Amino acid sequence: MNAPLAQAVALEDTSTAFDHPEFSGHEQVVFAHDPASGLRAIIAIHNTRLGPALGGCRMWGYRTSREALTDALRLSKGMTYKNALAGLPLGGGKSVIIADPKTEKTPELLKAFGRHVERLAGGYITAEDVGITAADMELIASQTGHARGTEATGLGDPSPYTALGVFTGIQAAVAHKFGTSHLTGITVSVQGLGNVGYGVCRYLHAHGAKLVVSDIHEPNVKRAVAEFGAQPIDPHQAHAADVDVYAPCALGATINAATIPQIKAKIIAGAANNQLQTPEDGVKLMQRGILYAPDYALNAGGVISVALATSSKDDAMVREKTLAIGDTLTAIFKRADLEGLPTSVVADKLAEERLMAG
Ligand code: NAD
Repeated sequence: MNAPLAQAVALEDTSTAFDHPEFSGHEQVVFAHDPASGLRAIIAIHNTRLGPALGGCRMWGYRTSREALTDALRLSKGMTYKNALAGLPLGGGKSVIIADPKTEKTPELLKAFGRHVERLAGGYITAEDVGITAADMELIASQTGHARGTEATGLGDPSPYTALGVFTGIQAAVAHKFGTSHLTGITVSVQGLGNVGYGVCRYLHAHGAKLVVSDIHEPNVKRAVAEFGAQPIDPHQAHAADVDVYAPCALGATINAATIPQIKAKIIAGAANNQLQTPEDGVKLMQRGILYAPDYALNAGGVISVALATSSKDDAMVREKTLAIGDTLTAIFKRADLEGLPTSVVADKLAEERLMAG
């Protein structure tokens, strides 16, 4: 073997899934390729102890396949924890298609992805995520019986259920922190007034809470001010608002070393994924006496609706399971108090225990 080739092999070795820093005992990682349509996708099945792995399909213009692998490994593990904590009979998985959804999405590519999902014979169940619309999922579902969130299997947009779960979680957090089940007069800073955030505002307003709202898209703010009598705030100051509850419903990592000292709220409870920039931020929140509702426990309403919806479109079971998010959070808060641990750590422990018991 000549020297350059040896070097190339060595580089290749360090980028396999097994050596990847995000590899965490994943059961199966499939690199799916379809030369005719140009499909390049990765399907990662993290854990199927509780049932088949369910998690969305993300289409994104990843610059490298390693970046895509990082996302697939990390997100699929997250789904194992989210599904376990939500009490769903499902494992965790996720898929990523390496393509720009604006310029590279074609029906052939989506169908090829569907055929690859079908080959896994139900070990992985796919659904919508970033870059994949309900119409795209219909095309994928034309090739596989293992797709959710379609007209035949779904309740449509999961956001209303996510919003219901977040609202229920805010109620549970207020009850735990302030000892009241009423929201009248409670002030909440909702950062991000999109599909979920706006729905959360609607519930909060109907229950007497006072709203401070922010969004980088100004019309959303104007609408909330007009509809709920909300007070607008600069999106970059949303975390520092003088309120009882800070509800991040836009981006991740808004809770970090820079923002934590500025937070005045006594509760953080919102829909955004990956709110803590690092695990240490959970410790810092506990030290500051701020009650943090772990994001993946709180925002599970969407996946519950995707997982449990049936062709009958009856959402009673979905609503019941979504409302149980409040009980799960109360259990996390109580155990965190008892064990002197951050709520983020307790959520992980609880998910791992459910996984082991399953
Ligand atoms: P969305 O795109 O409908 O809304 C996001 C909103 O945030 C938009 O209005 C956008 O203008 C605003 N925004 C973006 N950057 C901002 C910033 N820096 N400050 C203030 N506002 C900003 O998304 P969504 O479906 O409402 O989801 C919101 C969050 O909840 C995301 O983090 C998402 O991953 C998470 N989540 C959503 C669901 C669901 O069912 N949709 C489920 C679980 C988790």
